[in-house]
Amino acid sequence: MRSLSKLAESFTESVIREMARLCQSVGGYNLSQGFPDFESPQEIKDAAIAAINNEHNQYSVTYGEPELREAISKKAWTYNSIKCNPQTDITVCCGATEAMISALMAIINPGDEIIVFEPFYENYGPDSILSGATLRYVTLHTPDWSYSPDELADAFNEKTKAIIINTPHNPTGKVFSRKEMEEIAQLCIKWDCYAITDEIYEHILYDNCRHISMASIPGMNKRTITINSISKTYAVTGWRVGWAIADKPVSQSIRKVHDFLTVGAPNPFQHAAASALLFADDYYINLQIHYAQLRETLFATLQKAGFKPHLPQGAYYIFADMADLMKKIDVQDDVSFSRKLIDITGVATVPGSSFYNDPSSGKSKIRFCFCKKLETLQVVDIALNKLNANS
Ligand code: GLN
Repeated sequence: MRSLSKLAESFTESVIREMARLCQSVGGYNLSQGFPDFESPQEIKDAAIAAINNEHNQYSVTYGEPELREAISKKAWTYNSIKCNPQTDITVCCGATEAMISALMAIINPGDEIIVFEPFYENYGPDSILSGATLRYVTLHTPDWSYSPDELADAFNEKTKAIIINTPHNPTGKVFSRKEMEEIAQLCIKWDCYAITDEIYEHILYDNCRHISMASIPGMNKRTITINSISKTYAVTGWRVGWAIADKPVSQSIRKVHDFLTVGAPNPFQHAAASALLFADDYYINLQIHYAQLRETLFATLQKAGFKPHLPQGAYYIFADMADLMKKIDVQDDVSFSRKLIDITGVATVPGSSFYNDPSSGKSKIRFCFCKKLETLQVVDIALNKLNANS
């Protein structure tokens, strides 16, 4: 047989999705792939059903239904302090995942470099390979996931085309402060490069943390591509509705890539998304109360089971250290630990190495997601006791 694509051969299947499948095959508790096991809000489901019944069943405008772009633009102003024109600056995509790859393909030329904070959400690796960019890594250091300003400054050079900022951050839960965003902005301006932000967890915040959007920082509006989605905020990860906000010329390039990749996001779900973006403030307040309880529950469970969890400031993951438990169950690395953890307890996780360029950096780390019913986390609490019974 003829050879396959060298590009496609240069990365592996998503470990997050693989672990989710493994979990399903053994009927385990899926704390690997970040999607809720609780019901989506009734109003958004009703809106989707109404959209289908109202015959929004054919292709949408390729870059998004006007009603949704209007709603995104309003929300971007009221929640993110981002000014954008719904006619020219927004591209609705099939989830933030497609928005990210479309954004990269829209700006990258051979030889371009992209900076990413490490650990990082695994998609950014294949995204950069497929778009032809080279990644440069800036370490987020434990215990507080801060970066060194010198290491950050050293990562920029004349080849730097963009920096990816994911805040709140997957997998660490770090919420970048205004001071950090301003520091990154200064470097973007100095080196004339783009900021691409993944803000999908913008409403999931703890301990009075505030979400800061890069496009709202002075001087950054025109050089930022803001990516977001309804998946996490409204618990509808399977609907595949996300978007990229960027200045008109950048959006024109994103729109072309998007059109030829997917034509458009599902039309009825775009209409439902438009109505969800109008939810009153109490929806978001309740969302935070709900997730705060789940964070507290899983954090206590992990401490009790012998992990060393990092308390997240945002998003719905806990990144934990498990060096002691590795010795206890006699495994040498995170991948074997995750597999053995499913065998012993039925709990599926994501091995830490999935979030690092060099797998050895994540060898003693593991990610749990807690966007699950309280009852699910209570069962997980009992299941993880088996780790200690096993010693
Ligand atoms: N963002 C989610 C995670 O990190 C899932 C993403 C996906 O599988 N598309 O688990």
